[in-house]
Amino acid sequence: MSAPRLEIDLDKLEANTRVLVDRLAPAGIRVTGVTKAVLGSPAVGAAMLRGGAEGLADSRVANLDRLAGLDGPTSRTLIRSPMLSQVDAVVRAATCSLNTEAAVLRALDGAAELAGLRHDVVLMVELGDLREGIPVEDVAAAVRLVLAAPSLRLAGLGANLACQNGVVPDDRNMGVLSDLVTTVETSYDVTLTTVSGGNSANLDWAVSSTNVGRINDLRLGEAILLGVEPLNRTPLEGLHRDAFALVGEVIERVDKPFQPWGDQAQSAFGVVPDRTGTGTVRQAIVALGRQDADPDGLVPPDGITVLGMSSDHLVLDLGDHPSAVGEEIRFGLGYGALVRAATSPFVSRRERTGC
Ligand SMILES: *Cc1c(COP(=O)(O)O)cnc(C)c1O
Repeated sequence: MSAPRLEIDLDKLEANTRVLVDRLAPAGIRVTGVTKAVLGSPAVGAAMLRGGAEGLADSRVANLDRLAGLDGPTSRTLIRSPMLSQVDAVVRAATCSLNTEAAVLRALDGAAELAGLRHDVVLMVELGDLREGIPVEDVAAAVRLVLAAPSLRLAGLGANLACQNGVVPDDRNMGVLSDLVTTVETSYDVTLTTVSGGNSANLDWAVSSTNVGRINDLRLGEAILLGVEPLNRTPLEGLHRDAFALVGEVIERVDKPFQPWGDQAQSAFGVVPDRTGTGTVRQAIVALGRQDADPDGLVPPDGITVLGMSSDHLVLDLGDHPSAVGEEIRFGLGYGALVRAATSPFVSRRERTGC
């Protein structure tokens, strides 16, 4: 089998989705599965749907196009504001998009009309993390724009916290969103079907709050894929954290001195580590580089240490681990390493069920 390759256990992803769906159901919150970290993999999307996700979402139009091939009527939400230059593709690939800009909404309306489609819109509200979001006082104007647009449907309101400034979802900021939903519904005599409170960073709040208000949807990627919540990267109880592995092949296995020799300056990707120690290292080079994975979040097997990673070479201290040229080594992945591996053209993919 070819290396490097990303191995994906679809049963574990289905199980992770199911646990989160069941945990959020008592609060009346449904799960939208986010596939952007795996390049919109239809197999991963299908596993999330089997696990009870109500719909799928991705940040890239090309990924949503890939998901459009799945059987059955599944909502596909574009979770990054559409580019103006992309609206025609957006209304075809996505059934819904998250939006903040009037110019984009007008263009989406025109594109949907041209395509003979109705496009759902969730307006994103700024709640303090300062990435995407309409200021609370400007939401009413955006609502009026969408309600007046013949080919758009106002599905609801949403928010995103934690990604830019680590702002933690809590009863206060989620309460602002809930209150806004009620105000919009009474002011304009509409019913908002989607109130999307946020991403995996909302989980702790959602399961511990005594009042989740009007929030009825979370967009979950990392929690399903890696079984951790992203605020503190705490493992989520009952979830698999090893649904993904990156497999690389050893291309050199030579004992080497601990200390380099010769004058030292910078290495390929910055400062040379100041290595204290003497003796010999049981060193291996794996054919894996920064073009295939991010060294941050690449987790070697117990007893093996990463000494460095350049574009194409991963240098390991094997410790007591036996290894030889041609052997494969499996690595666990954090979010950054997963995204890099899933988007690298050099990494093949093996998605399996029933193992
Ligand atoms: C990436 C993203 C998500 C999913 O985030 P996770 O932390 O992976 O759950 C949800 N919403 C938006 C707007 C995103 O960009």
